[in-house]
Amino acid sequence: MQSRVDRQLRALALAKACAACGARVRTIGHLTGLPPREALRLLFPDRLAVPRGRSPDSPEWYHGANLLHRAEASIVVALYRRLRDADFPAGEALVGAYRHYVGICQPPHRISFDRAFDLAAHTDGLWLTDTRSFSLVTCPTCHSEFLAAFGSVARSNDHCPFCKLVQRYGTDPRVQGAFPVQPLATPSAEQLGMLVLLQRSFGSSTGQAGTSSASESQP
Ligand SMILES: [Zn+2]
Repeated sequence: MQSRVDRQLRALALAKACAACGARVRTIGHLTGLPPREALRLLFPDRLAVPRGRSPDSPEWYHGANLLHRAEASIVVALYRRLRDADFPAGEALVGAYRHYVGICQPPHRISFDRAFDLAAHTDGLWLTDTRSFSLVTCPTCHSEFLAAFGSVARSNDHCPFCKLVQRYGTDPRVQGAFPVQPLATPSAEQLGMLVLLQRSFGSSTGQAGTSSASESQP
């Protein structure tokens, strides 16, 4: 059982992490239970830095969004799902997934933290709504997970944003910019040194085996 102070500390740590990801006060309130006035006072001493604008509404948005938005939305929710499946609480899973998304996708990031929150809420029927609007389905062709209308089954890759990105990659500079070809990792000096050592020890052990068998075969 968490004590009251533990729960409050957890809520504050989560609120701070959400604010660092660019969350709106309303989103922070939903995720942590922190009253809006308290969130404003603690997290946004500079009132000009308070994120503003209309809250996202993803169930309509997603199906009309362009390919890159749909791909990145699917990446965020797939990362969130993995952390939820590993038993992380929903709020922490969302922050972890969002940070991971920012780390692996090229800027500009098309999915804001509030959008990620809204997508996860409408996938799990959580925080904002009891209704599930999305399912995370697996493409039968490329095996990527992508968001689809709730209850859909992916029988083909017709709606898979990743298959479409691959088809478009050669001719669309925007797609190339969003998912640049990563250079192959060049082994570091340490890794090369390890390789040499491994080869030597492997070579010397076979050498020894060779020597002993040679000596055995000697009359
Ligand atoms: Zn696919």
